[in-house]
Amino acid sequence: MRSHYCGDLNEQLNGETVSLCGWVHRRRDHGGVIFVDLRDREGLCQIVFDPDRADSFNLAETLRSEFVVRVTGLVRSRPQGTTNPDMRSGAIEVLAHTLEILSQAKTPPFQLDEHATVGEDIRLRHRYIDLRRPEMIDRLRFRSKVSNSIRNFLDENGFLDIETPILTRATPEGARDYLVPSRTHPGQFFALPQSPQLFKQLLMVAGIDRYYQIAKCFRDEDLRADRQPEFTQIDIETSFLDEEGIMGIMERMIRGIFLKHLDVDLGNFPCMTWTEAMRRFGSDKPDLRNNLEFTDIADLMKNVDFKVFSGPANDADSRVIALRVPGGASLTRKEIDDYTKFVGIYGAKGLAWIKVNDIAAGLDGLQSPIIKFMPEDVVKAVLARVHAATGDIIFFGADKFGPVCEAIGALRLKVGADLGITRSGWAPLWVIDFPMFERDKEGNLNSLHHPFTAPSCSPEELRDNPDKALSRAYDMVLNGTELGGGSIRIHRPDMQQAVFELLGIGEEEAQEKFGFLLNALASGAPPHGGLAFGLDRLIMLMTGTTSIRDVMAFPKTQSAACPLTDAPGPVSAKQLRELNIRLREKVAVPTAAAPAQAE
Ligand code: ASP
Repeated sequence: MRSHYCGDLNEQLNGETVSLCGWVHRRRDHGGVIFVDLRDREGLCQIVFDPDRADSFNLAETLRSEFVVRVTGLVRSRPQGTTNPDMRSGAIEVLAHTLEILSQAKTPPFQLDEHATVGEDIRLRHRYIDLRRPEMIDRLRFRSKVSNSIRNFLDENGFLDIETPILTRATPEGARDYLVPSRTHPGQFFALPQSPQLFKQLLMVAGIDRYYQIAKCFRDEDLRADRQPEFTQIDIETSFLDEEGIMGIMERMIRGIFLKHLDVDLGNFPCMTWTEAMRRFGSDKPDLRNNLEFTDIADLMKNVDFKVFSGPANDADSRVIALRVPGGASLTRKEIDDYTKFVGIYGAKGLAWIKVNDIAAGLDGLQSPIIKFMPEDVVKAVLARVHAATGDIIFFGADKFGPVCEAIGALRLKVGADLGITRSGWAPLWVIDFPMFERDKEGNLNSLHHPFTAPSCSPEELRDNPDKALSRAYDMVLNGTELGGGSIRIHRPDMQQAVFELLGIGEEEAQEKFGFLLNALASGAPPHGGLAFGLDRLIMLMTGTTSIRDVMAFPKTQSAACPLTDAPGPVSAKQLRELNIRLREKVAVPTAAAPAQAE
């Protein structure tokens, strides 16, 4: 039907007859001539309808926004002074010879260039219109190209693309499962995979050696800005490679993609242990574009009268830290109050600070609501330890390890952005040597990664001191975002049993839930490991957008619903009966003839 894409036309086609298909972006009537900007996925092109050709001219008068048309016409230079340098085809226009209306369109719910003023719900409800916007198409195109490069890289490096089941058993990755009731096994449920973790390990046991899959994963968790209930992972597993080998290949892949698609050389990724990342930045995914760092000062605060500090300073599970912010002395009272509210979101009860107005003037050069509670030598020791200088503000945090890292870690990022301290550009790194476990509020052990991650010690050492055990996990971090993470896996059944036991999964439960894995590990399992990257997050970072929904064609809302299809939706009583399901509460069922049974 067409010879060219609208957006691809240029001066080189001058004098040629072309046929174009696309959407009417805009129609303008100008002194007896009609101009139509015609749009397709490659861009816009200006079409001119002249009254000399009465048929097409009259038809053009009926065109409305978003009609789909086919035009044939002659490419010609635009008259001098009317070229549009912002448009790829801005030096030419097409003088229409024929016009055919392929589809009419009702008035769109929003003009494509006015999307910003309509709510996201409307955009998602009419996603097929929203996706017509050039920036949306560009992001999807970019995503497609990056996926393609990833596939090529993995293919060239001997990885096989293998699909794993969607209807499966629970894969513990720390979220709730999406469950699917089984009709043929009444009362039983499939779980949608939180990741292909166990299947990829089974593929290693099978001897596949190198596997990858661009896989959909499903996690029913409370949604944050950069989470979606279904998302895409670049999922990878290898045999007979250690951490270094796996991290090396993956680093080459990501570096290659940035070079090819953004012309950015990420260089060699530094490696940092989890302990160092937490100590210096309070985060296991530090944004290294921001060089503000924590300084531990608990030892200085053990005997001060200020309980807010002395309490945590004398508690082994707590931390007292200072965050020196150069230039921060110029912050107003109001700005500091706003930061206090901000850390409150993360559970901090207050925010202590010292402004250093003149370092040479001793205590007189300081301004602070807290120094009156501390002996002068303590204040001086703090200033010396953080290397305070005139113009600084020093913020303080004192609390249990986790909450204080989270609150002051978030403050570090916010202040860094607000004061222009955070550099632009890219700061990748690997974080390694994670603890094997963390304890929940009840004191139970939970895996920091997943229960299949290998520790770097023996099963006996692990049992003796699980709190101190480190795992063979690694995360790739970019600009404060976890791009991907993985580990060397447990490949011996005794070690897997030991981990299950520590997690409170008894032998019977382990057999019931993971018997197939234990059997596989006992059937000749190679040492193996891998990782998974979040494709959506990778594309989000690379395209510089802040919402993960901007890089997905059909995302869900914050409440895990799809306004376009109205999913999730009710099902008929017949379907429920077939699935052996009886709803506990009355819910409206669309078919009045077959109401759902209710208790
Ligand atoms: N399955 C893990 C995840 O989804 C990644 C991995 O360990 O390979 O986070």
